[in-house]
Amino acid sequence: MSHIAFIGLGNMGSGMAANLAKAGHTVHAFDLSPEAVKRAEAAGARGVDSAANAVAGAAAVVTMLPAGKHVRAVYENEIFPNAKPGTLMMDCSTIDVATARSVGEAAAAKGFDFVDAPVSGGVAAAEGGTLTFMVGGPEAAFGKAEAYLSKMGKAVIHAGDAGTGQAAKICNNMLLAIHMIGTCEAFALADKLGLDRQKFFDIASKASGQNWSLTSYCPVPGPLPTSAANRDYTPGFATAMMLKDLKLAMDAAATAGASTPLGAQAEALYAMFDGLGGREKDFSGIFKMIDGSWRG
Ligand code: NAD
Repeated sequence: MSHIAFIGLGNMGSGMAANLAKAGHTVHAFDLSPEAVKRAEAAGARGVDSAANAVAGAAAVVTMLPAGKHVRAVYENEIFPNAKPGTLMMDCSTIDVATARSVGEAAAAKGFDFVDAPVSGGVAAAEGGTLTFMVGGPEAAFGKAEAYLSKMGKAVIHAGDAGTGQAAKICNNMLLAIHMIGTCEAFALADKLGLDRQKFFDIASKASGQNWSLTSYCPVPGPLPTSAANRDYTPGFATAMMLKDLKLAMDAAATAGASTPLGAQAEALYAMFDGLGGREKDFSGIFKMIDGSWRG
């Protein structure tokens, strides 16, 4: 079992760190929030008072931070100067592809193994150890990372070179946003045409309109008891998070020169829902904006 540094113990990181501790690793946990460090201690980790102290002597480092600027700063200022040679580094945050690539290159230049390993799955999956990891980085680093990531997830998939984990994440979530909005539009039209929602669900689930937003995350109350629509769109996956991922996708598309007209439209619609007060609601709550019943 290894000494692991875990930095970023928020909604996602707290459950992930707990699962590494549960698997028998010695987890040295740090967050800017002392309350988050206390929660990690209660879940079996050893709380420490700085990222530098978490990293000192660690065989592996996991980071789960809000955005690219946090990741760059923590790696440059805290992790690289304090890690021992050959340390394995896994950044599980969702960040821009360019930052992931440049931090990965900086790590490699210093002789560290680094992977970008963003996740699919929310807080429940982080707590339950059922995340899906999309991993970018050299084959050798992936081989080492898999043993740790598999303690926090149900699937660990190598996407390719540095940055491709983040690329997979934002392409996936752009697609998710597009088919969620399409599913909402179809239900809103079905309502106007007098078609019963359950009947439409039963038919489209077995027809060519079938998609994950319909059958696993149905945006209207009723057909799927587990979906956020049945609890007034309490997240789940908040609109603010979806909007963040869509912005990353649109920035990447602009940089790469990719044509993503539906992605751009999805970003505009989620920005509108955010502006109308939907920020903390589940992303499937955009149904209420589309059918005109949203009251903020
Ligand atoms: P969060 O805001 O709850 O947690 C981030 C934590 O990082 C906070 O506790 C914050 O105090 C800490 N932090 C910030 N700067 C730090 C620093 N310099 N040193 C140490 N700690 C620092 O966010 P979250 O929901 O846990 O998400 C983390 C990442 O995972 C994000 O990139 C997010 O996009 C991604 N993600 C989230 C979800 C989700 O459903 N919440 C799902 C998939 C991916």
